[in-house]
Amino acid sequence: MKVFKTYDKVKFAVKGGGHSTNPGFSSTTGIQISMANFNELEYNSKTQNLRIGAGCLFDEVYKEIAQYKRNIVGGATAAGVGVAGWLLGGGYSLLTNQYGLGIDNLVEVSVVLCNGKSVKASAECNSDLFFAIRGGGNNFGIVTSFTVKTYPLGPIYRNMLTFPIDKATQVKEAIINYIDKCKDKKAAIVAAYRHFYIRGGQEDKITVDLFYDGPLPADNPFEELLELSDEKWINHELHDTADKKLAENFAFMDQLFSHIHDPSRVTAAPLDCPVYGTRFSLQTYAKNPSQAGVGEENVRARWGTVMVSHFTRKLLNEIEDQSKFAASKLKDNQGKSAVIDIWPFLPCMFDTSTATAWPHEKGQPNGPLLVCFQWEGESNDQYWIALMMQILRSIQRVAEAEGCTNDKLPKYCNTSLADTPVKDIYKKNLPKLMTIRAKYDPDDIMGRTGGFRIPLAL
Ligand SMILES: Cc1cc2nc3c(=O)[nH]c(=O)nc-3n(C[C@H](O)[C@H](O)[C@H](O)COP(=O)(O)OP(=O)(O)OC[C@H]3O[C@@H](n4cnc5c(N)ncnc54)[C@H](O)[C@@H]3O)c2cc1C
Repeated sequence: MKVFKTYDKVKFAVKGGGHSTNPGFSSTTGIQISMANFNELEYNSKTQNLRIGAGCLFDEVYKEIAQYKRNIVGGATAAGVGVAGWLLGGGYSLLTNQYGLGIDNLVEVSVVLCNGKSVKASAECNSDLFFAIRGGGNNFGIVTSFTVKTYPLGPIYRNMLTFPIDKATQVKEAIINYIDKCKDKKAAIVAAYRHFYIRGGQEDKITVDLFYDGPLPADNPFEELLELSDEKWINHELHDTADKKLAENFAFMDQLFSHIHDPSRVTAAPLDCPVYGTRFSLQTYAKNPSQAGVGEENVRARWGTVMVSHFTRKLLNEIEDQSKFAASKLKDNQGKSAVIDIWPFLPCMFDTSTATAWPHEKGQPNGPLLVCFQWEGESNDQYWIALMMQILRSIQRVAEAEGCTNDKLPKYCNTSLADTPVKDIYKKNLPKLMTIRAKYDPDDIMGRTGGFRIPLAL
């Protein structure tokens, strides 16, 4: 930081897991500060808190913490996602209905400030900085470690169902029924319309990731979805004896996700991974190992988001229509994949919320409806970004008409397009954050990195 102060024209970027798709957010034409060597993981059995180095990826964090039969409020898929970016933006988790966002579970951070000093921030010490860091992204310095709460980890249930697109109507109905009926905080689903165009072939499917924080209860919230699945080998009783470690579950789910992104990697998947029979579907995929995948190419990507408080039938219809529309554009525009997620939360999702930079309050549910496109070739950037904006506008209109969104819902910086105004992210907290920025970064050093920049108060 001191060097940057001296060389005041040098641009830089801070990289955690490097998963931001917005150019310049953790990538740069200047100097990139990779946090990879800040990889410590320290579990304190007295406080039951975990200190996580800012270079850690969720993959390694889940593995470490599972040894202690503890869990953290962390990312829904590990797959190389950095803890740092995820936490600095907010952090939606499969445990959010129970324990809020990642930032609600942060106890302390260590930060290198823009004057080069290393400080700690918590509710007791530098509390203004602690408020600002929780959702404030890379505006206030470089975080070197995060201390987070942990929760008991027992047997959990996780599965991912894959449906052919011609079952879309039944799957949608089952998702609607799940949303209407399931009020169980321990249950979570993340469904997605996934369309791929890989080496001359189009693949269209719907995936539904199922998670239950415990053995499946007798009143199984996923019953209808499981019944719909052709994969009849799924054994509903397995949970009675299962005691699977979280890390194994996540590692395995990531193999499945990496198949979805990159079928060529499936050959390396461990087929003996003990997760509820999903390995059989992996074997099915593995029959076609020569298929090349997205990961081999020079793929470009963006995420965009419509923030929603809940999902309705009409909104799901719109998501399906828009995903089909995006899919129809893949072939002629070097598109690789078009994905739209449905991640429903319960109205109680923010009941345990704390005061943080990113506004999220009890009684105001707000989750990202995520759209993700991947394509090849810089010359196609404009096309795909324009298409994404068009699709987001269309979904937004329906969500507004359905009462699922409104202007008051803060945008989620971790999955928003780069041109999203900071006032739409921080809402009423923006003036306070501007004052805190002026205190901790008066020379606007962090202004030389990419990211959603909070202006300095005058
Ligand atoms: C497969 C996948 C799954 C995902 N699942 C979820 C999910 O379940 N829930 C959810 O909420 N989001 C999810 N996301 C989105 C995720 O939260 C963001 O992509 C997040 O930015 C990833 O963090 P990163 O460290 O990998 O990113 P990076 O690109 O490294 O960083 C993102 C931003 O944080 C800044 N930053 C990183 N480290 C530091 C640091 N130490 N100090 C200061 N600034 C720093 C960077 O400068 C950059 O602006 C997912 C993304 C992917 C790709």
